[in-house]
Amino acid sequence: MRLLDRDGLLCDAVEDLGREHLVPQQALMEYWPWARLRAEQEEQQLYAEIRRLPPDDYARVRELLASDPVAEQGVLWEKWGGLWGRFGFFEPVSSWPWCNAAGWCFPCPVCAWPMRVQPAGQGVFAVACDAHLLEGVQYTYRPVRGGSGPPVLEGGGASAGRVEGFPAAGDYLAVSRTVWRYVTLPGRMEFAIRDALTGIAGLDILMYPGGDRYDLHITAAEPLVARQWRVDAKAWRSFGALADALLERPVLGAAVPLTIVVPHRQRSDLPLLQARLAGRPDMEVMTDKDFVTKVLRWCRGES
Ligand SMILES: [Zn+2]
Repeated sequence: MRLLDRDGLLCDAVEDLGREHLVPQQALMEYWPWARLRAEQEEQQLYAEIRRLPPDDYARVRELLASDPVAEQGVLWEKWGGLWGRFGFFEPVSSWPWCNAAGWCFPCPVCAWPMRVQPAGQGVFAVACDAHLLEGVQYTYRPVRGGSGPPVLEGGGASAGRVEGFPAAGDYLAVSRTVWRYVTLPGRMEFAIRDALTGIAGLDILMYPGGDRYDLHITAAEPLVARQWRVDAKAWRSFGALADALLERPVLGAAVPLTIVVPHRQRSDLPLLQARLAGRPDMEVMTDKDFVTKVLRWCRGES
């Protein structure tokens, strides 16, 4: 794995893995911009801040962090209303050189967060989402000398739909990398699950049931066979670190096991996570896509 990029900065994958594993190496510490907390602690700290809010505001903040991870400050002010300014979740995009494409920034078509820009040789630059590169979200562009307006991106992957750039300057703000990883990415999975299961008679979906440590409560009742699911979405880069964090949780005697939902793009590593959690009957783990299929099957009376 490449540790440092051409500018001598820590590569994003190393950053994530280090945060999730608490890597204490001196070499990393030199480039470490944050307090070295275990990701689970960092994630909990983040959630503890917003859990102090009344339930409606809590759900609103989680939805906004998932739906609008990047916007102009004025737009954010309007959307957040009285909740704006109470949290340090956003940073100016202009302070992030890693997503600057000739003065422009391009949001990922899947998660809406800024994509990374890197030289790809022969005067070409690659633009890709750190999380969705695996799904084909990657582009290239060739800077035009003296050209005005955003560089023209050439799509290179299956999910690389058209994206509009915005100036990487001024009033544009984006959620921090920590918020993106632990709130925006799982949040978008949760909303996609909700949307995929909305409108089915007998299925009741509750987002962010107050004060609990999971994100979605789904109840099937008349005319369906009664059943419940408790879902917690996780978008960690390292399943090893995620397994460590989940295994540290106390065993709960709840009748309904907690379903840990992970991105479909990480499905090849799923057996590893499932094997690590084999001794925990209070948890099951599957991809977001498989979870939706499973619930839809239940609704059709197939399982
Ligand atoms: Zn993305």
